Amino acid sequence: MKTLEDDLSRRHAQKLYRERLVLESPQGVEVHVGETWLLSFCSNDYLGLANDPRVIAAFQQGAQRYGVGAGASHLVSGHSRAHHALEEELADFVGAERALLFSTGYMANLGALSALTDRNDAIFEDRLNHASLIDAARLARAKVTRFPHADINRLASMLAHAPRPKLITTDAVFSMDGDIAPLAEFSDLAAKHNMRLLVDDAHGFGVLGKNGRGTLEHLDLPLAPPVILMGTLGKALGVFGAFVAGEEALIETLIQRARTYIYTTALPPAVAEAVRASLRIVREEGWRRERLRALVAHFRAGAERLGLALLPSPTPIQPVVLDSAEAALRASQRLREQGILVPAIRPPTVPEGSARLRITFSAAHEEAHVDRLLEALSSVRI
Ligand SMILES: *Cc1c(COP(=O)(O)O)cnc(C)c1O
Repeated sequence: MKTLEDDLSRRHAQKLYRERLVLESPQGVEVHVGETWLLSFCSNDYLGLANDPRVIAAFQQGAQRYGVGAGASHLVSGHSRAHHALEEELADFVGAERALLFSTGYMANLGALSALTDRNDAIFEDRLNHASLIDAARLARAKVTRFPHADINRLASMLAHAPRPKLITTDAVFSMDGDIAPLAEFSDLAAKHNMRLLVDDAHGFGVLGKNGRGTLEHLDLPLAPPVILMGTLGKALGVFGAFVAGEEALIETLIQRARTYIYTTALPPAVAEAVRASLRIVREEGWRRERLRALVAHFRAGAERLGLALLPSPTPIQPVVLDSAEAALRASQRLREQGILVPAIRPPTVPEGSARLRITFSAAHEEAHVDRLLEALSSVRI
């Protein structure tokens, strides 16, 4: 019998072993790891809000007013005024009738997919969807079909033969590639087949669109059936949690049926207060999105001059694809030696043969930081 140790050493040999960094400092452009400070290009704190003094103050005041723990699930006695106000503000912000808070994006996806489908329904997933959407379909025990990445035509022909098509689901911004899904086309297909389209905007919410409403705003699409929006609050919003937004009947259905909503303790209300402060900043400080766009443009121009293989990503996720896990690991290590933190992303997080450096930018970066990164990338010669 294969032991746990055998499996672990096989992972080591294949360069797939994963290890954690221990941060001594808050999340930020520079992070304190071990004995040194590293210039970081690997958080999802795209707007630089995870350590914002106003968000911290709201968190502290929230703890003063509501205490630390919610003490119960939402349906028992854990649903506080802070949660309720945040749900109303999120719904207003994204232009939906209602929004429902979940503890994490992972749980929101699990809850939504299993509440909206049963074992006779068919769910269609983009091949590069986030693991939480894949696991959500498994938990729902529905019939799952994965279509080639962003391939509208293939999806259309699959739908033509499907017995009970119920749901299409896709990342809006693909978490490891940074490209944007063809949501208008998916939405048309869903409408044509009387299905719903669940859009996971973990990486677009707060970042894309003139007002930061996300990928739907970026593509000028309404948030109305067939579309359902899932957004997360631990990335651009800098805090923690997630929500699903849509029409009244959808949200009431989730409250009745989503098991990851019903059978779990509500988020600490202070977390909701922190997100409310963060959402106000997202609304008021459009310069953060502008800055991010300018940094991404600056990076892409520089990377092209260096001849790096970039993907067609207009977002703050800018991967540099290398062939092997070993090459990605080596490049990441060399950057680290120069004081720069960029993770190597390896299978199974990305498909075999497409291991990569995943570079992400934050509005808290400055052009000089990007120049340092470009210089380091050129000396690493990948
Ligand atoms: C991060 C992420 C999630 C999970 O959100 P959490 O709140 O971190 O659980 C879901 N979908 C996508 C595409 C993500 O990138």
